[in-house]
Amino acid sequence: MSIDQKILPKIQMVDLKTQYEKIKTEVDAAIQNVIENTAFINGPEVKSFQAELEQYLGVKHVIPCANGTDALQIAMMALDLKPGDEVITADFTYVATAEVIALLGLKPVLVDVYPNTFDINIEAVEKAITNKTKAIVPVHLFGQCANMEALMNLAHKHQLFVIEDTAQAIGAEYVFSNGTKQKAGTIGTVGCTSFFPSKNLGCYGDGGAIYTNDEALAAKIKMIANHGQSVQYVHDSIGVNSRLDSIQAAILRIKLRHLDEYAAARNKAADFYDHAFAGNPKIKTPERVKNSTHVFHQYTLQLKDVNRTSLREFLSENGIPAMIYYPIPLHLQKAYSDPRYKEGDFPVTESLCASVISLPMHTELSEETLQYIADKVLEFINR
Ligand SMILES: *Cc1c(COP(=O)(O)O)cnc(C)c1O
Repeated sequence: MSIDQKILPKIQMVDLKTQYEKIKTEVDAAIQNVIENTAFINGPEVKSFQAELEQYLGVKHVIPCANGTDALQIAMMALDLKPGDEVITADFTYVATAEVIALLGLKPVLVDVYPNTFDINIEAVEKAITNKTKAIVPVHLFGQCANMEALMNLAHKHQLFVIEDTAQAIGAEYVFSNGTKQKAGTIGTVGCTSFFPSKNLGCYGDGGAIYTNDEALAAKIKMIANHGQSVQYVHDSIGVNSRLDSIQAAILRIKLRHLDEYAAARNKAADFYDHAFAGNPKIKTPERVKNSTHVFHQYTLQLKDVNRTSLREFLSENGIPAMIYYPIPLHLQKAYSDPRYKEGDFPVTESLCASVISLPMHTELSEETLQYIADKVLEFINR
């Protein structure tokens, strides 16, 4: 460890401890309150959180559930997608997106992403549409919205459902060309999010939610998340058991009030990194599009002519963690290997998997820490 690093607090990809300390009094009291009331499941905290999130997002219905993966699964079940139906999604994403498609016996159809923004390539989506296609799952990767206007136009034209995977982009706002603004996850047929601790709105365990403006769909989602029952002990369809517990909801209510301030802190850190790396020919900083705000779930660089493994080792030796999101494209994963796909089919995703690196990004990064990280990255890259 170098001398300059000793004066800094331990650097983490995500610092949940410092964030907690700032809201400790409120959070501890809220948890204690749930314990006193013992309404651990479906208690008043869950209903209040649901209503507050609906208000924040400007969406008619929020249905809380156990995690983001369940949110995607329940949404697809509620849309009555049937085995063999094709669902188009991005090759460059977290595995959960494709996993639930495959798990339900649907056919994942992978498409490439754009090199600058990491999001789903609209022309590629259009080419992949067949008469079996039922839905598109855009992923608002790393905290910035996919090109929703073009995607919604395409979905309307072909009468497809749009299931937004907004696990990494809660709070991001999309701006349509007519000036209308809508929060990520409230634009498509249904939106799915995760409250995994390290997500932008993270609880202290597992959690997730599904959003929709469609009343009938909301009722169906609620039923499926609760064993397919609308009235107790009456089961209209096969469902799952997926609940957000009251302690998590109580914590999320407090953190929701800070969400915009958390996004601002992340943006400040991103601006710092952008500025520090500007003009370096070996580093491409993440592109910001004009149609979406960015909530920087991750700050992801693309490296050119840099040995990524050695850079990561050098950073690690200097007390700086860095992660590769994601190292292997979905179509090259054993579980998703398919005779339809081979190496070279999605060149952008393949090149991103080989060149991206994500730096520490959270709500508690000081300028001193950011400067230290940027200095160390540049020290390695420029030597
Ligand atoms: C985290 C994440 C999920 C899954 O959320 P869990 O709560 O971990 O199940 C799904 N999609 C994306 C893009 C994610 O980042």
